[in-house]
Amino acid sequence: MATGKVTAQSHTPATTPPDSPRSPSRAGQGDASGSPRRVFSADPSLATLRERRQPRDASQQVSGEQAIRPRAAIPLRAGALASDAERPRVNETNPEAHREHFAAGLGRALKVGLKAGVAAFVVSAGYRAVRNPGDFISHPGATLMGVANLYARTGETVPRQAMNDVLEHYGNHIPAHSACFRVKPTIVPFIGTNVVGQVGRDRTTMEPTDLKLARYAGFVSGISAGHHEYLHCFTHPQFLKAIKDAPLATSINEALTEYFSDNMPAPALSKYSAYDSNKLANGKKWTAAAAELEAVVGKDTLHRAYFGGEAAAIKQVTAAIVDIWPKTPLDNVWRTIRFEPQRYKQALGECFVGLSLWHTNQMPKLSGYHYAFDLLPIAHFSNIRQKDAARMVAQAKAAHKRLGPALDQAFFNMDNEASRGALRQIRGDLLEQWEPVLRERV
Ligand SMILES: [Zn+2]
Repeated sequence: MATGKVTAQSHTPATTPPDSPRSPSRAGQGDASGSPRRVFSADPSLATLRERRQPRDASQQVSGEQAIRPRAAIPLRAGALASDAERPRVNETNPEAHREHFAAGLGRALKVGLKAGVAAFVVSAGYRAVRNPGDFISHPGATLMGVANLYARTGETVPRQAMNDVLEHYGNHIPAHSACFRVKPTIVPFIGTNVVGQVGRDRTTMEPTDLKLARYAGFVSGISAGHHEYLHCFTHPQFLKAIKDAPLATSINEALTEYFSDNMPAPALSKYSAYDSNKLANGKKWTAAAAELEAVVGKDTLHRAYFGGEAAAIKQVTAAIVDIWPKTPLDNVWRTIRFEPQRYKQALGECFVGLSLWHTNQMPKLSGYHYAFDLLPIAHFSNIRQKDAARMVAQAKAAHKRLGPALDQAFFNMDNEASRGALRQIRGDLLEQWEPVLRERV
């Protein structure tokens, strides 16, 4: 994207199940890191099927979003949020994330479609493309891919319809001055492989600047892709700003967006997307996590946060996320502890490490200008010996037993104010109960 802008997420249709058999033709392609393996074939349907990514590796199921190794195909929603580029370690922010499940969704959608007796739609996708031979002439690759994916041609009326649908369902909480009303949607022949929609944002204001839908944007119809993108478009900038620095920002944003989109009327087949099968490191499906969040804070509060950007509602949402999303070490918490009085630093710092090891099986991975020696008498987290690490985990678990949710809010709430408040609530207990594990620096 052009400087000053960040491209926001998009809607990706279906995918391949992690356990689906590999095509023999894939052997030797791609690499072991889950990079896309692309095969260009004269037969577009084969090319599409071979677009599948590596199955999920058990070893990747380790921690945080890192466990969800993107097996996707497209560099499309790189920068779903402004800070994504600065957080390469978080796999969900990988531009190529989430495109992996393509063929899986396709297979599932076809199954459902056949069961529902709507297989005729499948034929109609190609048929509609043939009815528009101009597509083939001007953009043969993208058009062939759209037809091979059995996607319907996105008509000129789809964006307007999608916007009206979103306003009809969620308009109560959408401000009349939303920048989305000024965004002019475009239908484009190609955004990225398996990318069917995209919303661009101003990096500073987080307001939407453009909205694109692919000419071939989904099974049966591109309306669900349109819903998804318009939901992004109407997501309040304050909500995006509140979550943008969190390692789990993309899964939170996409899970809610897809969940809201799924709850809108549209042909069942058009609703399938990669996001419907993506899972968090704690095993929850993204959309199931969104549903759980809605159940905890209530529909009204969730809408006030996501669409209305209301500060109090956003705080309720970020507090509830602590218990629903995987507990992942946060830079903002480490930074807050750095400004605590000296006497608390080691206990809080060691507890931070203990909780990280407990919940993610890994030493904290902090980005930016945060280091182990900020709080602890070591140069790197990797300097912590195994038996010391075990003592930190044991004490962190004991602290959790004593302090309960306050401890989780202190260490895992992405909202600075909330985290700081909870830290002050628990720091006295930790100072008293925590036995320092690491020796003082000499
Ligand atoms: Zn999206």
